[in-house]
Amino acid sequence: MDTIAYAKYPFTLEASLYVKDRQYSIEDVIVRPAYEQVRTRAKRRILDAIGGNARPGDRLPDPERELLSYPVARIMVASTGDQYLIKRFAVWESKRAYSLLLAEPESGLIAVGSDFGINARIKDREFVLHFTDYLKYAAGLRDTEWKLINRKIISGMVYVPKEKFARLLEEAVREKVQSGLTGKVPETVAMALEPYMAEIRAALDVLKAERNIAADGEVSEDAFPPCMKALLADLQKGVNLPHTARFALTSFLANIGLDKEQIMELYRMAPDFREDLTRYQVEHITGGSGTEYTAPSCKTMMTYGNCIGKNPYCDWVTHPLSYYRKAMFRRAKLKTGPAPATGGNQAAADDGGKPADSR
Ligand code: SF4
Repeated sequence: MDTIAYAKYPFTLEASLYVKDRQYSIEDVIVRPAYEQVRTRAKRRILDAIGGNARPGDRLPDPERELLSYPVARIMVASTGDQYLIKRFAVWESKRAYSLLLAEPESGLIAVGSDFGINARIKDREFVLHFTDYLKYAAGLRDTEWKLINRKIISGMVYVPKEKFARLLEEAVREKVQSGLTGKVPETVAMALEPYMAEIRAALDVLKAERNIAADGEVSEDAFPPCMKALLADLQKGVNLPHTARFALTSFLANIGLDKEQIMELYRMAPDFREDLTRYQVEHITGGSGTEYTAPSCKTMMTYGNCIGKNPYCDWVTHPLSYYRKAMFRRAKLKTGPAPATGGNQAAADDGGKPADSR
């Protein structure tokens, strides 16, 4: 790899060795006026991650600045201690890498893969890698096309086209970027970076306020059934949800009271987010076609492999909406003390009936 490649893929071991060899001091980069542009670029990386702005292409006017801005951005993100920002930053960096990888020749992907310990080769225009390497990164991808059974596999070697190999690398990048972002940042470093942090915190607060599901007092993520919590967490991690899971989550969120724009905002985190297509799907599921769909029952969720993380409360319900209402009822009871017994509204949701009248 060369300097341009290090700037594109600053998370690689090779890139960090290059920084070390050039004897850059991270303390200097954080405090010295000469590196002001590096720090500003680091802040921009994070603001882009928060705003979900378009990933940059390979226009890298100043590769050294681009490269150095990555460790500085990591320190800035770590200094917030904010798990949501950490995940969002990792997803953004990994998506950025994915878009750059797609523009690389095959050798470029092989080089980045080898930095992650993936020993891949090309055969008949496909990437060939050992199934253990494949599973390491495909395990978090829920779409059934990633299951080994649905892939070409010969003698323990998996064959994937370029965009799938790049997608696996995107997963590897996301994990790598996210790792190690939980450590404590020394106070002197945090103080030096403080002038850049106010804008980051403000943008993060706005984003969280827009997306805080619990903020309106009617909808609470705490009361979500485990399946919906898992699907939402996957979405926020940037995991590519299969269609059945998207349908389940979208209809569930609509059924408990989120409007289309709130749901759209959640989907912006999806790795393959496309505004037009997602809006069409969300509008269709939430009643744009004249039919407002009800979230699938537990039985249907199980059939499609979307019943994830079942817990003892699940034994008392046959529908995720029923789980949610019971959980909300328990919460209200805890807050206000004993309440009169409710009637048969739960049963409608247990049966998978339309929830609108009992919301
Ligand atoms: S049993 Fe029902 S509510 Fe519980 S995790 Fe499975 S689908 Fe969700």
